[in-house]
Formats: sequence, structure tokens, C-alpha cells
Amino acid sequence: MEALVLEKVHSLKLSEIDVKETLGPNDVKIALRTVGICGSDVHYYTHGKIGPYVVSAPMILGHEASGVVAEVGKEVRSLKVGDRVCMEPGVPDPGSRVSRLGMYNLDPAVRFWATPPIHGVMRPTVVHPEAFTFKLPDNVSFADGAMVEPLAVGMHAATKAGIKPGDVAVVMGAGTIGMVTVLSALAGGCSQIVVTDVKQPKLDLAKTLGAVRPVNVASEDALAVVRQLTDGWGTDIVFEASGSPAVASLALDLLKPGGTLVYVGMPVEPIQFDIVKAQSKEITVKTIFRYAHVYPRALALLGSGKINLKPLITETYPFAKSIEAYDYAVNPKPTSVKVQIEIAK
Ligand SMILES: [Zn+2]
Repeated sequence: MEALVLEKVHSLKLSEIDVKETLGPNDVKIALRTVGICGSDVHYYTHGKIGPYVVSAPMILGHEASGVVAEVGKEVRSLKVGDRVCMEPGVPDPGSRVSRLGMYNLDPAVRFWATPPIHGVMRPTVVHPEAFTFKLPDNVSFADGAMVEPLAVGMHAATKAGIKPGDVAVVMGAGTIGMVTVLSALAGGCSQIVVTDVKQPKLDLAKTLGAVRPVNVASEDALAVVRQLTDGWGTDIVFEASGSPAVASLALDLLKPGGTLVYVGMPVEPIQFDIVKAQSKEITVKTIFRYAHVYPRALALLGSGKINLKPLITETYPFAKSIEAYDYAVNPKPTSVKVQIEIAK
């Protein structure tokens, strides 16, 4: 099949590659329609590795995908040929202890698309388990379907935060993950969200997503804004979605006594964390890794119109221009959030 293959660092090709696709009884074969470009795809392109994951053989990129069911295994009951779907890119070992406990996203044996040595889905078709393939509501486009993967991270963060109706939250970082966290937290019941970043075009976009107060921390004091909004009390939840080591301390200042800090961003190096400052407010710290059990709820929110992802899809390229799309994603315009590739129309 013709696929977008990362041959080695800095070398992307649209080329023929042999991929074994065996349809098991509980699998579906999907004809791909839209695949988003993720920060991780770009990082493999520019650096050839992420942490312990090294591209040592040609690998197809892409894990944020939607498509149409083209074939079903003989035990498949919930899906049929022609269904419009999106897919969870990580398939765990269902028998592992952590999977049996429901935390299948933490299974060390998980096979995750476009994480070496597993091929991604910038290609015409893929075989995937029925259990990780989800039908799109009729009013949800393939472009939106391919956004469910990043949205799932925000959904998981909002779920872990235990939002109560009316909570005020701060989202630190207005990148793609910050934006989907804003959408998820608003849908989950937050009354208002303060979004911090230093990139004004991103903050301008965040402001359009709902009850959002953007704060450019290069020129405005986030703590003063939060104090003013909450009568000096502090915010119920802080979602850290910037990965910046410098903001951990600020997050603790922003929180109310008994508040919750959710770590979504991944600092590259270990960071300083002031335990005593956290203790003095009995802060609860939560962390997330990818997501689990949130696709159905994300799709329900998209179907009911409570979440609108369209403002986040800023560029779309045809499959034939995939390499151009990646080169753009390496150096995007400041207004760019999500670049997608249409594998087929
Ligand atoms: Zn992604």
C-alpha cells in the first residue's frame, strides 16, 4: 500500500510499504478518511525518537484517525460495513493485570499507532479491534472524528479533576492539549476558565471557545486575575498543560485551599515541586497518561453539540501533499492548532 513513511529522522516519503493486515474474528478493517498530525508525529520526524522510543526501521506516522468500516470479522456485532468511525490508537493486552483493573492506558504492553515499532495510519486501510473502534454520530464529520484522540486527553483530565458544576479552573498552556482541556472542562461543568500562555494568537483563539478569560503571562499577572475573579479565594482546579517547569509553583499559588492540580503536560526533565506549599493548602495532585474509557463520552458531547472542535482544525492537506503538511507542522503559523491530512475524500 502507499503510505506516509518516516524512513529515518528528517526523511519522510510517500512510498509503497508492505504491511500485514490480518482480519481476526473481532477486528474490523477501516478505510481511513482523515488523520491529524500530532506533536509526537512531528517530533519523530525532527528527532527520530521520543524518550525510549526510537525509530530504527521505517515507520508509518499518524494516530489521530477516522474512517469507514470496509470489512468486519465474523464475531463483530456492534459495527457493520459502511459505518463511519474513529479509533483509539492504543490497543492493550486485555489480560494484563492493569487492563483487568480498568487502567488499560497504563498497560506496558500497549501497542500504540506510530510509536515504534508499531505503524501508524497515514495509509489507505488498517485492521483494528472492534472494541477500540467507535461509531461517529451522524452530525460528526470525519475531521471532528480524527480530533477525538487529542480531545480524549482533555476529557480524561476533566474526568480526573472531578469537576463540580460551577467550578472555576485554570488551564496553563494554550496548545492543542490546553484547548481540548478547556473544551472538556467547560462541557464538564466549569463556569469559567482562565487560560494562560505567552502566545497571543493562541489566547485569542481560546477566548472563542466559551467562558474563557485569556491571560498573556508575558504582560499580565495570572495570580492577580484569579484573585480578582474568585474574591481572593483561588481557583478550584488547575490543569497544567504547558509542560513548562516554571509553572508548578504558580499553579499552587493559584489554587484555593483543598484545590486540585491535574498534571496533563509532560515536562521534559524532572521539575522542582514545593511539597510544603502544596501541603499548606492540602492540594490534591492528579496525573494522567493518555486516556481510558472516554471515547464514548467525547463522541456523545460532539453529537449533542456541547463540544465544537471546528475552531481547532486550522489546516487541511490532501494525502498527496502529506510531506508538505508535515513540513508546515514543523514550523506552523502562530494561529495554527491542528493540521489534518485527508487520506481519502
Ligand atoms: Zn495525538
